[in-house]
Amino acid sequence: MELGKVYRNYINGQWQPVIPDSEPMEAGGNQACSPVATSRAITAGLLQERRNPARTGEIVGYAPMSGPRDVEAAVQAAQAAFPAWRRLAGPQRARYLERAADEIAARRDEIAETMTREMGKTLAESLGETDRGIAILRYYAGEGWRKEGDVIPSTDADGLLYTVQAPLGVVALITPWNFPVAIPLWKLAPALVYGNTAVLKPAEEATITAAKLMACFAAAGLPPGVVNMTAGAGAAGASLVGHPGVAAVSFTGSERVGRCIAVAAAQRGAKCQLEMGGKNPLIVAADADLELAAEAAVNGAFRSTGQKCTATSRVIVESGVYDAFKLKLLAKTKAIVVGDGLEDGVWMGPCASAKQLDTVLGYIRLGQAEGAELLCGGGRPPDETHENGYFVEPTIFARVDGTMTIAREEIFGPVLALIRAESLEEAIAAAGDSEYGLSASIYTRDIGAALRFARELEAGMIRINAETSGVELQAPFGGMKRSSSFSREQGQAAAHFYTSTKTIFIKG
Ligand code: ADP
Repeated sequence: MELGKVYRNYINGQWQPVIPDSEPMEAGGNQACSPVATSRAITAGLLQERRNPARTGEIVGYAPMSGPRDVEAAVQAAQAAFPAWRRLAGPQRARYLERAADEIAARRDEIAETMTREMGKTLAESLGETDRGIAILRYYAGEGWRKEGDVIPSTDADGLLYTVQAPLGVVALITPWNFPVAIPLWKLAPALVYGNTAVLKPAEEATITAAKLMACFAAAGLPPGVVNMTAGAGAAGASLVGHPGVAAVSFTGSERVGRCIAVAAAQRGAKCQLEMGGKNPLIVAADADLELAAEAAVNGAFRSTGQKCTATSRVIVESGVYDAFKLKLLAKTKAIVVGDGLEDGVWMGPCASAKQLDTVLGYIRLGQAEGAELLCGGGRPPDETHENGYFVEPTIFARVDGTMTIAREEIFGPVLALIRAESLEEAIAAAGDSEYGLSASIYTRDIGAALRFARELEAGMIRINAETSGVELQAPFGGMKRSSSFSREQGQAAAHFYTSTKTIFIKG
């Protein structure tokens, strides 16, 4: 990929520079032509340098930092495009999604490399995620061909009573950096196929990858204004949420921001969907296959550097197998190769940003201060090859009890808490002892224990003999308790959010 390029917003089918607050709209500023113009735009806060978290000397590109005027332009474009887009037949909209999927497939390697350079996950993870994005688009293209309502018997023998799922209008999609392809697409694809137009506000740390997705939609020939992107900081997201032209907001990110969005959306009656944190437990029952359970714990805790809302952050082990499990877990964790995700053999990349690294190191210090036993990791890798990136060692704490901060708060990094339970009952109680309820796993061979776990755990995703972080695009995804706002994403569940039911009666 070409490094150091200036990226722009995508509004009304055009690549648009950020519109400065103080200049007339038409001036726009030229943020692409020369190094001088780029550095002026950075100073003015219109562009932001994006650096590779594995090699902070590398400038991946310059990302737009949108303000209210960009948001205004994008919402207006999306509003203008809505009537014609909603008029299309489902299979016609599906065709555009198919073409967007083809475009992503054609640029798969470049998109994956961009993702790795921009936010650090390994190339294998980025390729897998890009393939997931393609599959999401194809799945929702299929939705364009499926039924969109029901016929209901009317009490009037001459009447026809039926429902259709009507689109909402302009939807705002506010996304985080940890899945820069999959999350924007699992919001965009259903939003579009069900007839809405969209404005995407990706996370700052994932803007360049998002711009490459926009290029695929552009190449797929979507009508101008159907898909728009206004990149930038949280303020751009807040402008979108507050815009009266936005009918609905779908958000994935932190609980703190999610709660603000819910309030702002409720104040003006916009529909709102939130996916937030997790503190996902994995129980290792006394009869579990310890080898498989240890593999699941390592994958769940450390893949993507623990930066997944479904990451495993607490492993609760029955006493009888605690020592044996701990040995297996440690052996596997110590074998993890940390490094630049573009290099062969690297299993775990850096944290996505300096801020994220500081947060993770802060939680590690807190774990030690609260009296947990540091089993492995605990800081930045000591060798100098890791000096120039936001690397942290995969870290495991033992002797963790449920009251410690590292057992309660979402860390969003490669830190695992090991908790001992005297019985299955105690393990299930410990697993449920969290304000979050996104995903929960158990490893056991006892069908009764598995069924009981599935019944009792208050979590949106229950996983039996599987790691906490497995999401299938054709099934509903979302959490309980503080993890989510009840509605579900992905699969056909997405239709509940992106449409509104219209009940129609016709008298013949
Ligand atoms: P993270 O901690 O994972 O970065 P955030 O919740 O801070 O998660 O960010 C998720 C998304 O929400 C990003 O696109 C971010 O820019 C956006 N965002 C942050 N603050 C606000 C806000 N006040 N209103 C709307 N969007 C916001």
